[in-house]
Amino acid sequence: MIFAAATNNAKKLKEIQRILNALGHDAKTLRELGIETEIEENGTTFAENAVIKAKTIAEICKMPTISDDSGLEVDYLNGAPGVYTARYAGEGCTDDDNIDKLLNALEGVEKEKRTARFVSSVCLYVPVENGEDINIVCTGRCEGWIGFERMGNGGFGYDPVFMVGDKSYSEMEAGEKDAISHRGKAMRMLGEKIAEIQF
Ligand code: IMP
Repeated sequence: MIFAAATNNAKKLKEIQRILNALGHDAKTLRELGIETEIEENGTTFAENAVIKAKTIAEICKMPTISDDSGLEVDYLNGAPGVYTARYAGEGCTDDDNIDKLLNALEGVEKEKRTARFVSSVCLYVPVENGEDINIVCTGRCEGWIGFERMGNGGFGYDPVFMVGDKSYSEMEAGEKDAISHRGKAMRMLGEKIAEIQF
């Protein structure tokens, strides 16, 4: 099936397309659909934000839409940055700003106390005429820890400092990351649900 992908983040989009392709599906970008919009993510959970994103885009393009809302929960920081992961270092900040802030917040903290997890809630929203819209949310998690410094060049966002075992997300091949990542798990769960739906 072809879905609209409700994200303006080019690198996240690439991952969503890659994982969907592996499941035999594909996604159109907002640019391909001619949609230019900033979505206000004012939910208090990843799941709420995922629904806000997918519903907003689905109502504009009138096609089945998939979104992802994700973030990092660091135990030493009592679960922060959580839903504020993208703007941890402030509105308009870069990935590097966010990583610097995180490394500073964990300065001097020993490895055993740097545990963290990436969480991804993905939503499939399908507008249904003369009926109830389809709204499915699946959440995947990947347990890891925050490294002491950046490792590797691949990926995006916090990849260089999110460690699973002794490897950062950045050091993994695409397929290796997808097999264990928060997003890979959430999308595969969603894939199973999609297979059960009569569109
Ligand atoms: P969102 O786009 O509002 O869901 O924000 C997600 C935030 O988490 C952004 O800062 C992303 O860079 C970060 N993020 C989400 N998934 C990943 C990932 O797989 N690797 C690294 N950073 C990620």
